[in-house]
Amino acid sequence: MSDLHQKIKLLAKDYVADVTANRHHLHMNPELSFNEHKTARFVAEQLRALGLEPQEGVAGTGVVALIEGRNPTSRVVGLRADMDALPIHEANDVPYKSQVPGVMHACGHDVHTSSLLGTARILQQLRGEFEGTVKLVFQPAEEKAPGGASLMIKEGVLDNPKPASMVGQHVAPNVPVGKIGFREGMYMASTDELYLTVKGKGGHGAMPDQLIDPVLMASHIIVALQQIISRHRKPANPSVLSFGRFIADGVTNVIPNEVTIQGTWRCMDEEWREEGLRKMKKMAEGMADAMGGSCEFEVVRGYPFLKNHPELTRRMKAAAVEYMGADNVVDLDLWMAGEDFAFYSQVVDACFYRLGTRNEARGIVSGVHTPTFDIDEEALEIGPGLMSWLAIRELNQR
Ligand SMILES: [Zn+2]
Ligand SMILES: [Zn+2]
Repeated sequence: MSDLHQKIKLLAKDYVADVTANRHHLHMNPELSFNEHKTARFVAEQLRALGLEPQEGVAGTGVVALIEGRNPTSRVVGLRADMDALPIHEANDVPYKSQVPGVMHACGHDVHTSSLLGTARILQQLRGEFEGTVKLVFQPAEEKAPGGASLMIKEGVLDNPKPASMVGQHVAPNVPVGKIGFREGMYMASTDELYLTVKGKGGHGAMPDQLIDPVLMASHIIVALQQIISRHRKPANPSVLSFGRFIADGVTNVIPNEVTIQGTWRCMDEEWREEGLRKMKKMAEGMADAMGGSCEFEVVRGYPFLKNHPELTRRMKAAAVEYMGADNVVDLDLWMAGEDFAFYSQVVDACFYRLGTRNEARGIVSGVHTPTFDIDEEALEIGPGLMSWLAIRELNQR
């Protein structure tokens, strides 16, 4: 174990009480996407207390700061945390329970933010021990389209100085605390929302011959669209099409004029994402037309798919093995959820890994986006220490 490695472990241990206090403060004061005003002020104050000069108001509530090591212009690594909470009413009975009714950090972004503040403290302390610069990126609105990441990129977060790589972490309620998960290449899905309106001619259910039944049309369309997945998608190329809303608002003997359908389209390939959308639109419109009606097919675009740069991810994983031991570094499955970290991964080398937060013995098993989500706070010592080590290893490699 290197000297530096040991130093980081000790600092992570020293700072865990503060990281935990910060997490509790953020957890008790959650703010919704694009409204992270108090959170951003809190982050900026903490960074200033470390002697850093944060830039505030990037993409609204984003905060960016630099920690300069030796030869600060030689190399830059970006570390990212998201800051927003969700419109969920917390059901946990804990001392740090959300104080804002109907708003909760149910996706662990309080953990990501407090952990990155802890990382900042460790790296600032050790700035004489690494080459280059660490760019800290605290971003708004991971949970809401168009995503804080895309707006921060537009406002230049990846320029001046430009990070050679971006690294982010996310809590993992399916990974035991003490473990870290990685996956090279495709990891998370693009997300698009689909809105279909199938129009026909409604009327008395006893006289279908005089009507154009949109319920039957819409049913055919749903079945046909699934066959685009099974017949056109390359088998090695994962994608998901799910419809969660199908509203035919008639009654037993009244056929409505129209049916509305809503669904989600998720892929791991930007070309197939576009091609699939074209095929679905053509099929839905064509089928409705063939049955005498019409179909409006609208898409609200979400995030691109998230690809973890293979070599960067291999380096990160090797560094994590040094820090945690091989037994504590696990491989992740594909995850068809979306993440706006994907925007970074489309333009720079990026690595998004998972911080284990599950503890079955203590009943900490709830998924993200549920009112009972929580973490085993042992992860708050691992998160900042590990991310500091990953950043330093990456900066000192050349
Ligand atoms: Zn989330
Ligand atoms: Zn999240």
